Amino acid sequence: MWENNLCSPSVVKELLAKYQLSPRKGFGQNFLIHPQIPRKIAEASAAQAAEEMQGTGFSCALEIGPGLGTMTRELSRLYRRVTAVEIDRGLIPLLGETLADCKNVQIVERDCLKLDLPAFLREQFGDCPVHVCANLPYYITTPILMKLLEAAEPAQAPQIRSVTVLVQTEVADRLCAAPGSAAYGAITASVRLVGTAKKLFGVSAGSFLPQPKVSSAVVQIQLYVNGVRDAIIGLPASDEALNALIRQAKELISLGFAQRRKTLVNALSGVYEKDETASALRTLGLAPDIRGERLSAEQYVTLAQQLTQKKGAQSLVSAQK
Ligand code: SAM
Repeated sequence: MWENNLCSPSVVKELLAKYQLSPRKGFGQNFLIHPQIPRKIAEASAAQAAEEMQGTGFSCALEIGPGLGTMTRELSRLYRRVTAVEIDRGLIPLLGETLADCKNVQIVERDCLKLDLPAFLREQFGDCPVHVCANLPYYITTPILMKLLEAAEPAQAPQIRSVTVLVQTEVADRLCAAPGSAAYGAITASVRLVGTAKKLFGVSAGSFLPQPKVSSAVVQIQLYVNGVRDAIIGLPASDEALNALIRQAKELISLGFAQRRKTLVNALSGVYEKDETASALRTLGLAPDIRGERLSAEQYVTLAQQLTQKKGAQSLVSAQK
């Protein structure tokens, strides 16, 4: 019954009225009403899943914020199992109606930011690889993305294999930016530690009800299949040492971007001696007055390695004295 018409503005309005609902700004509710976009986003996600599985099996999808179930229906067609997490209690009975015939869909009424994500993924999907697909609520786009990325262990194959999301164009550009560009930020470097991001296509404001004031775009993050060792060479062989190194690199990234106008030496001075950072930067072939926004994620990791080695060498010297 809902096969094609959930994208009709009049049907959406009728449906909301039937359940005495209206779009809630506080939950970032901008429902997709474009007849092709929900399918296009779900298919971009599933294409990634198919490529990864190389026809050998099925994957599962996690949707954040199903809203009226428009994209959920498309995901249901393409994935073996779909779990959709919705914060708005008022939408749950409505979703029960619009997804009644989608037997592989599970709706969970929860705040996605409060989930213990690794445990939730195991509970919902067992060992099945998971592809996240969502039209994200704009007010919490970055915390959601950070939560998804944090679920990936640096040394292991991640359960979340890809993230295909509709976000503000500005965020999509940030996720895909190159070091040194105005859009490059801490989140860009953090993404690079777990995978690669690609902007797929733009979505006009007229594709939503109500219309947002900003333009939007779909971005896809493909996570490294075996963790960060797939992307950076020369990393420690021990998983424990690698986890510690990536933790340290993330700390450097967050300090390096906290005050963009400062040189990296000054930005890190609360934690590392200025001479120490300058010398580590020189070893990497970087100018000691470089700013944090010019370093790639890989360079942050190498810097973390250098700083650790120098600290180790220093404590060895002081122990021998
Ligand atoms: N997927 C639907 C669509 O494309 O039409 C709705 C997208 S709408 C931009 C965002 C959805 O996320 C809403 O359904 C909203 O209630 C839900 N949402 C907002 N904050 C949430 C949170 N913290 N956890 C789970 N869902 C949330």
